Amino acid sequence: MKRRVSTPLKLGNVTIGGSAPIVVQSMTTTDTRDAQTSINQIRQLEDCGCEIVRVAVPDNDAAKAIAAIKKGISIPVIADIHFDYRLALAALQAGADGLRLNPGNMQSKEGLRSVVAMAKEREIPIRTGVNAGSIPAEFEPDIPQSDRMVHMALNQVKLIEDMDFNLIKVAMKAFDVPTTIEAYQKISDKIPYPLHIGITEAGLPMAGSIRSAVGTGILLYLGIGDTVRVSLSAHPCREVEAAYEILKSLGLRQRGPVMVSCPSCGRAEIDVIALAEVVDKYLKGIEKPIKVAVMGCMVNGPGEARDADVGIAGGKGKGIIFKKGKIVKTWAEKDLVDALKSEIDLL
Ligand code: SF4
Repeated sequence: MKRRVSTPLKLGNVTIGGSAPIVVQSMTTTDTRDAQTSINQIRQLEDCGCEIVRVAVPDNDAAKAIAAIKKGISIPVIADIHFDYRLALAALQAGADGLRLNPGNMQSKEGLRSVVAMAKEREIPIRTGVNAGSIPAEFEPDIPQSDRMVHMALNQVKLIEDMDFNLIKVAMKAFDVPTTIEAYQKISDKIPYPLHIGITEAGLPMAGSIRSAVGTGILLYLGIGDTVRVSLSAHPCREVEAAYEILKSLGLRQRGPVMVSCPSCGRAEIDVIALAEVVDKYLKGIEKPIKVAVMGCMVNGPGEARDADVGIAGGKGKGIIFKKGKIVKTWAEKDLVDALKSEIDLL
């Protein structure tokens, strides 16, 4: 995979773009004005690997709360602003590490100018771009949606470039996967800025993760994308976990173990699904980048998962532990999971 070359920028202590690792983002679901509850959720996000968090800033109290929130967390905060430049100024004054806004939506151009000036002085990046659903119907109605997205995003970018600002990150989200991919492909060689990718409003965890994996997975494989958010109707930690699974699937990031588990079949001599769920839960607390297998039968399991660092395969009332395809020991079925846990701890 050859990665698109983008101009890196710093958001707090995180580098986005260039040759930096692709950054995983999420967004709080808490009321930003409730600083302590927001801190608690962001700490959970930090624990599950979130590297940048966005918070909604619907009013001045939310903007001010960013100062208190930042004291309780360690990852950079992006303030999500709609329409009102004064909230962007208040968020910057409260210490936001980044802004997400669409300059074209700012009713006051002088206000926008003051936001851009303060962001420049403080070296705070601005994410701009377009969400397909928010393009006005009268905007270039006769061309393909992906072209409308590109043109609208370029308009947003130009507004702040013309104010001599270039700490820019661009996102172009849509729910429709082919449209999103086309839009990112079309804009990718027109601007030098890092691209934030995702499929917007992707849905509940199952469908949303798959939709996001298809959309962001194809883009990442094409070398497009410097930060990613999986947008799910779920606790934001699920978004982060899904994002890492996508990045791990493409070999772009390593974080914690990868679990291989067979789908089970008529040859299974153990309840693979129940076992896999127990092992998956245990692996959530492990940081080592190992591969662990849970397989249903001794005949095929070790061979099918021969690249796993350690694995188990079921037998009749018993099971085996194997490493890199080689059987290490046989255990009674009731002791198999504990034995696997011990082997994982030793790796
Ligand atoms: Fe079936 Fe065994 Fe393969 Fe699992 S490992 S799918 S039980 S043959």
